[in-house]
Amino acid sequence: MSKHSIPVTKNLHPQLPSFNMDEIAFGKNFTDHMLVADYENGEWKNVEIKPYAPFQVDPSCATLHYGQTIFEGIKAFKNDKGEVVIFRPDQNLIRFNTSAERMQMPTIPEWIFMEGMKQLIDLERAWIPNKPDSSLYIRPFMIAMDPFLGVRPSNTYKFMIILGPSGAYHAAPMKILIEQHYTRATPGGVGFAKNGGNYGGSLFPVSLAQSKGYDQVLWTDAIEHKYVEEVGMMNVMFVIDGKIITPSIEKGTVLKGVTRNSSITILREMGYEVEERFLSVEEIVDAHKKGLFTEVFGVGTAAVVSYISRLAHGEYVMDFDIDSLKVAPALKNHLHELRMGNIVDKHGWLQHV
Ligand SMILES: *Cc1c(COP(=O)(O)O)cnc(C)c1O
Repeated sequence: MSKHSIPVTKNLHPQLPSFNMDEIAFGKNFTDHMLVADYENGEWKNVEIKPYAPFQVDPSCATLHYGQTIFEGIKAFKNDKGEVVIFRPDQNLIRFNTSAERMQMPTIPEWIFMEGMKQLIDLERAWIPNKPDSSLYIRPFMIAMDPFLGVRPSNTYKFMIILGPSGAYHAAPMKILIEQHYTRATPGGVGFAKNGGNYGGSLFPVSLAQSKGYDQVLWTDAIEHKYVEEVGMMNVMFVIDGKIITPSIEKGTVLKGVTRNSSITILREMGYEVEERFLSVEEIVDAHKKGLFTEVFGVGTAAVVSYISRLAHGEYVMDFDIDSLKVAPALKNHLHELRMGNIVDKHGWLQHV
């Protein structure tokens, strides 16, 4: 399969086969092995697969203080024939290296990311659930390693890939509050990069929304809080007057989601008109008052398609009957069937392991 043979140290105390695959929780359980590579003296070295385990960092490690850290989220699936496929990992590699450049980190060579991921998954095949909506979550990440408190790019880094079995995520429809004060991303900032700080900064506003009975916030633009951008850690799509509208990525404040991109293609193939543009809260509320706003949903790797049952702007509350949704369930089903190998993969989105 691969040009590069990555050395493997087997885990002598694996959790499998005794691990109970019926009790998997997203982000809590990890497989028996991980991939690690070090960046030193301007090059990547020591690429290896070894037992999943904690590792040491110096208390002055740059990542801990200044947040030079990026990640990706990808999924692998086992279909009914027992084949293992990864959904569009090439797109995650491109985004990972875009994030790396923005955070002044070294890019990762394709072979370490792709072959490393495939060799690791191949070793952990038994960890991939084959229940509906279950998958193997793949988390590549890179952290700065210099033990140094000066603010400058680190000279040393670690790249790692860890894997975790994942059941259905965010299965319940979400209640969303439109954010009118706090900001996720600003033009010229790092919103388009998947770097750690973006997520740490979102926790407080989300907790405020939760204290008001919501699950997440719908982020709006940083300047006027007028245009919608993303829902939580997902891209967002609106169905207004039969058309699908999703916020434009051109200002760099909306993450360029792989699920977003795939959904736009699929929805257009289904015959829907899809617009990528700026969409104001005013336009949304206005469409709701006219009865034209019929659906809103989140799209992202972790939750795939997430239904939204309530969207509120201050006192103005918009409710959606989950049973009467059309677009979101059709999209969700299409993505599911594609990954399960039941629909022809005409765009070559699935990579076999
Ligand atoms: C990862 C992420 C998404 C979704 O991107 P996918 O490639 O579809 O997983 C959307 N928004 C934010 C902020 C994200 O971090």
